[in-house]
Amino acid sequence: MTHPISHVDEIFSLLKKELDPYGRPIVSRSKPDIPDTPFVTLISCLLSLRTKDAVTEKAALQLLKEYNTPEQLSGMPIKKIESLIYPVGFYKTKARRIKEISATLLQDYQGDVPDDFDELMKLKGVGRKTANIVMVYGHKKHGYLPIDTHCHRIPNRLGWIHTKTPEETEHALKKVLPVEYWDDFNDLFVRFGQTICVPISPFCSRCSLQKYCKKIGVLTNR
Ligand code: SF4
Repeated sequence: MTHPISHVDEIFSLLKKELDPYGRPIVSRSKPDIPDTPFVTLISCLLSLRTKDAVTEKAALQLLKEYNTPEQLSGMPIKKIESLIYPVGFYKTKARRIKEISATLLQDYQGDVPDDFDELMKLKGVGRKTANIVMVYGHKKHGYLPIDTHCHRIPNRLGWIHTKTPEETEHALKKVLPVEYWDDFNDLFVRFGQTICVPISPFCSRCSLQKYCKKIGVLTNR
């Protein structure tokens, strides 16, 4: 049987080379002067939802440089959190969530971020993507596949899978993508989706994956 993803090794090598000049997203990399903890990953990921990376980065650095523990953030007035994370999208809701989650972690988990996917999903405002991000980039665990809009769109364009939602994509990809590529997948495909295989009119003419791509659903490209 032909494998649904041919040349997977070459594709990942090409992506790593092509994306090398672009910095990694704030959520998946360590941040200067901020401890590299699962809590920092969790809060960065919450800040990043529906927000451009550059804006998330500024807010994350502003907030987390000084305040990076559940103790500090559960005791902080919401208005102060709002002012530190402004202008991330939905900053009022996010400020409330950050305070609530910090309090829950203190109350129910001794101030630790659980290293269990189902426990993470119990935290208010934490969905599959965030829980997977915390497992991979916060706890450095293998076997998780965080799927955002880029990670959903691009494997469908490539013709690897045919899915309608990020959750379907997570399950379908786990069946066709060999596990050794899972750790790198989110980081590479988010950067690829932000820079080359963008949502509208992707830059196919300068894409190193052209010969492997079925361009499914791509109506116009550059
Ligand atoms: S060829 Fe175009 S659609 Fe296919 S992966 Fe590259 S940029 Fe995306």
